[in-house]
Order: sequence, then C-alpha cells, then structure tokens
Amino acid sequence: MLPSREYGTEQDKVNCSFYFKIGACRHGDRCSRRHVEPTRSRTILLSNVYQNPKHLDAECRLSDEELQREFDEFFIDFFMGLSKYGDLVEMHVCDNVGDHLIGNVYARYETEEDAERAVEGLNTRWYNQRPLFAELSPVSDFREACCRQNETNECNRGGQCNFMHLRYATPELVRSLYQQLAVENRERRRERMAKADFLRLGWKERLARVEAEARERGENPTNPNDRDWRRGPSGGDWRAEPPREDMQSDAS
Ligand SMILES: [Zn+2]
Ligand SMILES: [Zn+2]
Repeated sequence: MLPSREYGTEQDKVNCSFYFKIGACRHGDRCSRRHVEPTRSRTILLSNVYQNPKHLDAECRLSDEELQREFDEFFIDFFMGLSKYGDLVEMHVCDNVGDHLIGNVYARYETEEDAERAVEGLNTRWYNQRPLFAELSPVSDFREACCRQNETNECNRGGQCNFMHLRYATPELVRSLYQQLAVENRERRRERMAKADFLRLGWKERLARVEAEARERGENPTNPNDRDWRRGPSGGDWRAEPPREDMQSDAS
C-alpha cells in the first residue's frame, strides 16, 4: 500500500503522475503506470476540440489578430455551451500540439453532479462538424497542470510540451464572460434553494404557499377560473394536460 502523499506524484511507481495532474499522458493506453479514471470529479475534459489553424496548416497566413478573433469566438461558444450544464467555475483551452493535449478543453464545475451531467450531455453533441468526446478528469489544480516555463515564454519544448500550454482569450472578453456567469450561477442557486425550500413543506403548507402567491399576483385562489395551473409555477398540472391516447382507447 502506497503512502497517500505519494499518490499521483513522480515518486508514485504505480500511478501515472501525468494522467493524475494533467488528465492526459503521451503514452495513452500503453503507459506503464496506471491511469485511474475518476468515477466522480468536478472536472471534465473535452479532447481535441480547439483547432488552431496554424497547427492544421503550416502555410496558414492568418494574422495574429485574425487568429485571436477566431479563438475568442471559439472561447465564447464553449464557455456559454458548458455553462448550460451546471455551475461552471473555470474553463481552459490547451494550445499544445501533442496528440494527447491538442485542442483539449477542461472545465471545472461547482459540483460533481454538474460535471456528470455535462459529460453525459456533451457526448451526444457535435462541434464544428465533429463529434465531441467528453470524460471526467482527475485534474484538480490547473496551476499544477500548466507549464510554468510557458507562462514566462521560456519553455523550449513548445507545443510538444507534456504540461498544459494554455491559449488565452482577450482579457476584457474573459472578464465579461465570468461576470455574466456569476449572475447566472447566482440566479440558478436562488431557484434551487426556492425549490428545496418548497419540497420541505407538508401538503397544507404547500397549498397555503401557492394560495398566498396567487393572492400576491392579484388572483383569487378559490376561484377556479382565476387559477390557471397550466401557467405559473405548477410544473405542469396533470388535469390540464390533454388525455393520453392509450387511456382513451381503454375507455371506449
Ligand atoms: Zn501515463
Ligand atoms: Zn512547456
């Protein structure tokens, strides 16, 4: 049994430190050390989704401004898309060229449930005419996963480096996206709390609550014509739904 402080470090002779820290290792399935895929995690990895035109075509003539504009669009697409699955906390895009890191997008969510929902949803989606591949990732600290030399432009491995070389969107854009995200996350949390709060009530309290809310809206809760459960917070009233066809044929 290994001491836990060695787990996933370079001293760990059993588990791959690259997979543990960066979520991807250049040896892939043939690695001599174990890649222990997490069954629960707050981080997800989408492999090979950002396609840097310069990596696809050595003759690429796009200017730095044009490349940045294209990347900003990609960043917005993914940031907004990933925030739909739960409370997104952070998102990073790799600009490495090695097979295991090329175009990787990592996203960290507030909860493991959010991450699980994202993986499930994303694996059936496509982006830019290619199917997405999403998985839970063991990465928990992006500072550990990123190449320190690259942050100061001193990495001599360039895109082939086995640590993350991140590509950054325009700072003002990033700032406004995270601000917008904070507002959305707050609103979602408020809705969740209101729902949890309602579920704690007994039937009398629930009825009293919805009647009080109806009165607040200026409706008379005892007048059935004034009470349209198909609208409002009923979550769908069975009575208001059209009769099911199988039930109808039973009755005839
Ligand atoms: Zn490995
Ligand atoms: Zn590097």
